[in-house]
Amino acid sequence: MQELFAENPVPAALAARVLLDGMNDMVLDYAIPAGMEGVQRGSRVEVPLRGRHTTGTVLALAAPDERWANHLKPLRRLISEEPTISASLLDMAEWAARYYAVPVEQLIRCIVPEPVRQERHNEKTCKILVLQDWPDADTLNKLNSRAPRQAAILRYLHASPDKKALLSDVGGSPALTPARALQKQGWLRIEEEAQHRDPAGNEQFAPSTPLELNEEQQLALQEIIQAVDETATRPLLLQGVTGSGKTEVYLQAARHALECGKGVLILVPEISLTPQTMARFKSRFADIPGAVAILHSAMSDGERFDEWHAIHRGKARIAIGPRSALFAPIRHLGLIIVDEEHDASYKQETSPRYHGRDLAVLRAHLEGATVVLGSATPSLESLHNVRLGKYKLLRMDKRADGQRLPLTRVLDMRTEPKDKRYLGILSERLRMAIEERLGKGEQTILLLNRRGFARALQCPDCGYSAQCEHCALPMTYHATENRLVCHICGFRAVVPGCCPECRSKGILLEGYGTQKVEAVLRRCFPQARLHRVDADVTIRKNALRDILDDFRAHRTDILLGTQMISKGLDFPGVTLVGVLNADLGLNIPDPRAAERTFQLLTQVAGRAGRGDLDGEVIIQTYSPQADCIQYARRHDTDGFAETELALRQQMNFPPFCHMAVLTVRSPQEELARLAAETLYSRLLAALPPNIQISTPLPAPLPKAHGQFRYQCTLKSPTARTMADVCAREIKALAAGDDVTIVLDIDAYSFV
Ligand code: ADP
Ligand code: ZN
Ligand code: ZN
Repeated sequence: MQELFAENPVPAALAARVLLDGMNDMVLDYAIPAGMEGVQRGSRVEVPLRGRHTTGTVLALAAPDERWANHLKPLRRLISEEPTISASLLDMAEWAARYYAVPVEQLIRCIVPEPVRQERHNEKTCKILVLQDWPDADTLNKLNSRAPRQAAILRYLHASPDKKALLSDVGGSPALTPARALQKQGWLRIEEEAQHRDPAGNEQFAPSTPLELNEEQQLALQEIIQAVDETATRPLLLQGVTGSGKTEVYLQAARHALECGKGVLILVPEISLTPQTMARFKSRFADIPGAVAILHSAMSDGERFDEWHAIHRGKARIAIGPRSALFAPIRHLGLIIVDEEHDASYKQETSPRYHGRDLAVLRAHLEGATVVLGSATPSLESLHNVRLGKYKLLRMDKRADGQRLPLTRVLDMRTEPKDKRYLGILSERLRMAIEERLGKGEQTILLLNRRGFARALQCPDCGYSAQCEHCALPMTYHATENRLVCHICGFRAVVPGCCPECRSKGILLEGYGTQKVEAVLRRCFPQARLHRVDADVTIRKNALRDILDDFRAHRTDILLGTQMISKGLDFPGVTLVGVLNADLGLNIPDPRAAERTFQLLTQVAGRAGRGDLDGEVIIQTYSPQADCIQYARRHDTDGFAETELALRQQMNFPPFCHMAVLTVRSPQEELARLAAETLYSRLLAALPPNIQISTPLPAPLPKAHGQFRYQCTLKSPTARTMADVCAREIKALAAGDDVTIVLDIDAYSFV
């Protein structure tokens, strides 16, 4: 017998496979010492490393390699008894890391935000013991002799008026062990109460009652409720015109999820621009104190720490926030709502470059939750998924508030007399309309549709703009070689001396910024109180909020800004919205340019005149005939989607393929170019024939932050292979420290 045992290798105990923080995805096995048996996948741990110690995340419990099974160092500390990261969030992290070709650790950093991983902002908590059950005399007697301290705690709780006591009242931390034993037997419950730092500034919200839903809303709500109850369903796309009462449907759906004991996640484009949504949720759930947690980018570390823990503990059951809230550790997640799902801000433009809406759909799938994507102007990706039968469409076509849609005028700038004073920025019609509003004490919003840095060629007389023959997208002017270049396929063309359509010599490179417009406006309307909102202004903390507060309180007359301000367009005093240059967003080399322009114009048109006053929208454009402008004027989302999807299919653009952008940056132009060219030729050889790659070119934004930028664009039927091959070749290239290579899968920005 003895020998038999000796021959069988001792089964290696399970080790903890740990992904170390800040070590470029290094994974090491550690032994699990006695007292740390609670360790599991998703636990955060402290481990020894080269004579020091560091932190990491347990990816798995697995049998270690035999060769060093007996030499494993033990874990040093289990950071919290319960795993910090749930199994499904870890699944999502691993999936997204592969999809976007980034280290898993980058996603873990999203899941466990800095203040939480640092443990620095330790909350002030106190433990509270709550009596659950009272033993009969016999049991109590037995307990008294077997565990007198436990019995004493029970008696103390029983005697207190609300059957509760602070741990400190029954003996402080030495009483924790007997209290835990009592909790195990079901006699009491230990609760943690934190002194909570509230990002809403402890603001009180007046409770609101549910509205009686109209027929469309009822149908939508029933579908959502049914999906929540069934737990595994298709994503729902709620296409409802602005003002159709989508938010009211979200509120009632969230209530249902809560009543079923399920948690809710609500994603919004940017919380500081949509404070109404947050306030409506806070008010509706005012009956459950602490139920709604707000997450946003301007929170202090302490607030972030507290909100995260409130959600993780299960005290907060609804989390609202921008794309990063996607990773909130909500328990028993039952419902995810992605509001304004078409919004480009869901795409993160720094690594990891994930798309919040796409990961929301994945998370819902992994957790058996229902996801509702809501918008008045859904993305073509989502509409395509409806056509494929992957998503189910719910529609609300009527405005719930019974308001009329504002009158929308498209103003042809080609026929405007060229007046030097306004520099082609303001038409006479719009100038008069603004003046009229100033006279009546009403407010105006002026939008500058500006994206990217591309310089496009456009004729001010006939609206002609130079387009690539192969992609039907605008070409970008490159000053160095004095050529027009297509950034998608690399096609080059000479710069015409006059307009090919109408022979006008006035053909020009367009592009002007908010500052120039502001100067013109101040000259035209010296009496107006005007605020400008753009990236320069909003660098100052709270600047945006102050400007919006001023405007809402009517301390300013005109708000001028980029599309940034179109999201929060819920100002009752606004009766005029002017879009200064609808084309500028069109003349960029971006396959989604028309879609974005359509969405912006439709959102604007649906928002103006929210109060009792009727609204007017004036759209200035050099291409009044463009589909996206005409469909937006008619509020025809279906018509636009039909036309645009056909075009995308013909050009093989998303959603009919996945596009990626490879950007190579270096402070030395030659290095950037060389690395881009080497990478390009290697990829050309390594990629399967169904994945296309364009030749490397200087990016539309050729230099930024002191770095020269070169780009290739890729198109592929699937993202996976494209990401895998690119990641492998980037690694193999081992470019020096002076070169940075960035891969953006499902790119939304092509500059
Ligand atoms: P959306 O989110 O679709 O833009 P909202 O939910 O903001 O629309 O609703 C627009 C307006 O209509 C709000 O003022 C809201 O209070 C009101 N509203 C929504 N549903 C109803 C309803 N069933 N009855 C009356 N008013 C409603
Ligand atoms: Zn012309
Ligand atoms: Zn092209």
